[in-house]
Amino acid sequence: MTTLAKDRFGRIINYLRISLTDKCNLRCVYCMPEDMIFRPSSELMQDGELIALVRVFAGLGFHKYRLTGGEPTVRQNVVEIIRAMSSTPGVRDISMTTNGVLLEDLAEPLARAGLTRVNVSVDTLDPDRFRRITRWGSLDKVWAGIEAAERAGLTPVKLNVVVVRGFNEGDVTDLAKLTLDHDWQVRFIEMMPFGEVAKFAKEQIVTDEAIRARIADDYLPLELLDDGRLDGEARMYRFPGAKGAVGFISSVTQPFCASCNRARLTADGVLRLCLLRDREVDLLTPLRAGASEDDLRQMILDNIWWKPWGHDLAHDVIPLNRVMSQIGG
Ligand code: SAM
Ligand code: SF4
Repeated sequence: MTTLAKDRFGRIINYLRISLTDKCNLRCVYCMPEDMIFRPSSELMQDGELIALVRVFAGLGFHKYRLTGGEPTVRQNVVEIIRAMSSTPGVRDISMTTNGVLLEDLAEPLARAGLTRVNVSVDTLDPDRFRRITRWGSLDKVWAGIEAAERAGLTPVKLNVVVVRGFNEGDVTDLAKLTLDHDWQVRFIEMMPFGEVAKFAKEQIVTDEAIRARIADDYLPLELLDDGRLDGEARMYRFPGAKGAVGFISSVTQPFCASCNRARLTADGVLRLCLLRDREVDLLTPLRAGASEDDLRQMILDNIWWKPWGHDLAHDVIPLNRVMSQIGG
């Protein structure tokens, strides 16, 4: 029988977010500084090491996986990695969070390799503002990537929007209105403070309440779905008669820690127990030193047990040792 990974609060942890790389082809203002220095590839999990760790996690009941980064599509062999993951016993669902820049060519091969869905990050529908937020990104490329994802069956397509005061708060209504004609989920994510970008994130945050008020002013109020029950981490809404839905991920103002079932594996092979807490355990060093699958399994179980209850942003406890791209968003 499978031993499940459980924490001391009784939460079963069975969802792993894996950062494939800390590198990125963009530099979003809320995520990393323009002169970000990346880790040498030799310090990151190699393909075989990553798959070996996935095998151990899958043996502990982790069945749901999300690949992220940095930008997961810039990782060499991303298609082969997904193929190997999807044929690992116990792995049932593999999704990806991507900026979409390379998705136009990759969507089809990724889907064939076993990827099931994508979340594409797109914060505005205005090409100039898109360039300002990402520092050099092309909105056309991302849009072509979203369409390719839909054609490849990586559905339902979810669009992630981080709203930043002074950058894109005027775009929220147009983004939400995409759901009128598309069977998409547009998800507004409250900006979270990390490491070097913490001060910026705290000053420029736009809360989900402010976003809904703005959408109601500009167009129509959104209607709450499912009595406010969470869909994953998002609280769902809809415009009357719309094809798609609008989600709000309010990690800062309404944390969803009680229902958290996730852990994270950073690109350098470190198990991180909470996005917003610095507690971590290195798995790659013992793997390289010859630890057995049993040893690794025990390390994971012991550390999951001590998963922190939740974050403490309300008391200004912010993660300092890594920014979002190094943890894996
Ligand atoms: N590069 C991919 C992308 O942008 O989708 C995947 C990695 S990115 C770190 C994952 C998600 O985190 C993206 O949706 C991004 O918008 C979000 N993100 C980055 N920094 C954030 C912050 N400070 N607060 C909230 N969300 C953030
Ligand atoms: Fe890159 Fe994603 Fe961070 Fe933007 S949010 S800089 S696309 S990792």
